[in-house]
Amino acid sequence: MRDDGPSGAPLWARASPEPFWHSTVAAAPPCPPLTSDSTCDLAIVGGGFTGLWTALKARARWPDARIVLLEGGRCGQDASGRTGGFCAPSISHGVSNALARFPAEAAELIRLGRQNLDDYVQDLSDYKMETGFQRCGKLNVAATPWQADGLDRMARHYQRFGIDCTLLTGDALRAKLDSPAYTAGLYEPNYGLINPARTVSELRRVCVEQDIVIHEQSTVTALSKTGSHVALKTPKAQLSAKQVVLATNARVPLLKRLRAAFIPIYDYSLVTEPLSEDQWASIGWSGPHGIADSGNQFHYFRKTPDNRMLWAGYDAIYHYGSNRDAGNLQRPESFARLAAQFAKAFPPLAHVRFSHAWGGIIDTSARTTFFVGRAWGGRVAYAMGFTGQGVSASRFAALTMLDLLEGADTERTRLRMPRRWPVPFPPEPFRSMAVRRAQRDLAREDRTGHRSTFLRTLDRFGIGFDS
Ligand SMILES: Cc1cc2nc3c(=O)[nH]c(=O)nc-3n(C[C@H](O)[C@H](O)[C@H](O)COP(=O)(O)OP(=O)(O)OC[C@H]3O[C@@H](n4cnc5c(N)ncnc54)[C@H](O)[C@@H]3O)c2cc1C
Repeated sequence: MRDDGPSGAPLWARASPEPFWHSTVAAAPPCPPLTSDSTCDLAIVGGGFTGLWTALKARARWPDARIVLLEGGRCGQDASGRTGGFCAPSISHGVSNALARFPAEAAELIRLGRQNLDDYVQDLSDYKMETGFQRCGKLNVAATPWQADGLDRMARHYQRFGIDCTLLTGDALRAKLDSPAYTAGLYEPNYGLINPARTVSELRRVCVEQDIVIHEQSTVTALSKTGSHVALKTPKAQLSAKQVVLATNARVPLLKRLRAAFIPIYDYSLVTEPLSEDQWASIGWSGPHGIADSGNQFHYFRKTPDNRMLWAGYDAIYHYGSNRDAGNLQRPESFARLAAQFAKAFPPLAHVRFSHAWGGIIDTSARTTFFVGRAWGGRVAYAMGFTGQGVSASRFAALTMLDLLEGADTERTRLRMPRRWPVPFPPEPFRSMAVRRAQRDLAREDRTGHRSTFLRTLDRFGIGFDS
């Protein structure tokens, strides 16, 4: 790992630890915490994409309901305000993942994922949300021959399902990205990018306009059954709700049964200073599309509205005991690695400084897609385990939870993928050992193209590790 600044200081040395996205929106006045006991029809815990979409969609179904959202800090403070903002036409972490893990209903998952993106865009328009959404396409790039083979396979899968895509090499690839690190690409035009902080801010604004009561700084510390209601305890007061949605993502789940269903994995991002037109031209990146490389340990990168580059991913850090200390959000080793890899991928930009460097927690489930479920006789619904692809899937998960609370039999509730319980992670010390082993073998596969027996065994049981 190198420190490449002219003074010898790391190029990210003066980077703000705040997610870049937060600087793109004026901070809205905070919503007041819950300070007196009250009741409601639906309580939602968590003010990220999942909680906010749930609130909005619940209002559309139940115009007269009293809906209260309780957020432990500020809305969007966790993953939803820290994400890369890739808005996928998928609810199954991609087409290949649907085919590999859920072959029996893959076609349905693929269709519903694409429909969800269309509906997402329609909602942004119907609610007049200015989120910076662009359906600008995604380029997947390969750094090794076996990754290029993987893109060929992906293209065949896409073709089978009528999904528009183009394989690129040589000049055609260089017209979308000119990097010595990548030799092949697959471009798919139907993929979106959002500005995450603006999306949170707009969802929150519309929720408030729709008479949804939001209390920030109101961490729910316990749930209990009280007659036909559920009591949600917060530091200053208690809320009694007929029904509850848990949208707490990678935080410690309020229901014990969910604690082994996913693990918190830290993912890190750098954002450069704004780049000039010449600098963008020097790496051949002329369009607005987002890009991701294709290793198990992968980078995702995109432009920001003010012409910076977000360069993120690769490290996926698990801390012993599922530790979630706030200090984990800054990790100099990961920033140094990302900066060194950036210099290799983009030699003309090797001395560009980074203005922002932050981390976020991903709720990694062993089958790499979200799951939803019901508890306490249908009074509580939950969705989590998005495993790094929750920007658009959170909307679908929200609708599925509302279906479950209504007891409705819908196409969504009939799907097996979201309803099937993910294979639980073992307790420590086996959890750390298993994660370390999987990560070591995945890194080796990235170097050699060889998938280990251990990983193949996990594959057979539908168990994966991703971020
Ligand atoms: C660094 C990073 C990059 C990512 N990039 C992408 C991407 O490019 N594309 C993509 O599709 N996905 C991406 N993801 C995943 C995606 O961001 C998440 O899946 C999605 O934002 C999850 O939304 P959420 O509302 O479920 O969770 P969150 O945004 O984490 O919201 C959960 C909220 O619940 C609150 N909360 C938790 N416990 C309590 C409690 N007890 N009481 C009250 N409030 C509570 C938290 O404070 C938090 O605000 C990324 C994630 C990370 C971390």
